[in-house]
Amino acid sequence: MNYRFVFLGAPGSGKGTWSGIVSQRLDLSHLSTGDLLRQEVAEGSELGQKAKAFMEAGELVPDEMILALVDKKLGEVEGVILDGYPRNLAQAQSLDEILEKNEIGLTKVVYLDVPEDELVRRITSRIVCPNCGATYNLQTMPPKVEGICDRCGSKLVQRKDDTEEVFRTRLEAYKKQTAPLLEYYEEAGLLLRYSNFGPQTEERAQEFLALLTKE
Ligand SMILES: [Zn+2]
Repeated sequence: MNYRFVFLGAPGSGKGTWSGIVSQRLDLSHLSTGDLLRQEVAEGSELGQKAKAFMEAGELVPDEMILALVDKKLGEVEGVILDGYPRNLAQAQSLDEILEKNEIGLTKVVYLDVPEDELVRRITSRIVCPNCGATYNLQTMPPKVEGICDRCGSKLVQRKDDTEEVFRTRLEAYKKQTAPLLEYYEEAGLLLRYSNFGPQTEERAQEFLALLTKE
C-alpha cells in the first residue's frame, strides 16, 4: 500500500519525530521542504541555485518553487510523508492539482494537536549547537554534559526564536495560516486530529500507526 500522508502541526508539536518513526515503520519517504531545498542547493541543481538566491537574501522561497520541488519528488517516490507542507490554503490547493495530475491522492492529513502552553514549554527548553546543528531539549533530551554538545563539544545556545515572547508571536501566525487548512482537509474527509501529548512510548507508536493505517 502506498500511503501518502501530510503531517501538520505547530513548531514543537512533534512533526519531525513522528515523521521519522512512521516513515521508518511503513517504509515511506520523509519529505520536508526545508531538507529538500537544502539538498537541491547542495547538489547545485537549477532549482537549487534559484532557491539559494532567495535564501541568501533572507527571503522566503516562493510558493511556485516549492511546488515544483514537491512535484518532482512526488514523481520519484511511492509512499510518502509530507512534513510541514502545505503551510497554507493556497499551497494545499496547488498540491491537490499536482496529485490529480499524477492520478494519486492523500491517504490522511494528520494534525498533531498540542496545548499551547505545552508547546511553549517544549520550545523554550530547546537548545542547539551553533557549530553542528544538533538539537537538545533540557527536559526531554538533555546533553550528556550540561551546556556542551555531545557530538562536537561546542557550547550550546538558545536560539533567539526560541524565547517565549518570539515563539508566541510565531505561534499566532502559524494558527492564522493553519486554521483554513484544517477546515479544508476536514471538508475533504482527510483530517485526523491526534492529541500529541505524553511520553513517547512504543505503545503510543503502535496506537498512532493503527490510526494512520485504518481504512
Ligand atoms: Zn555540536
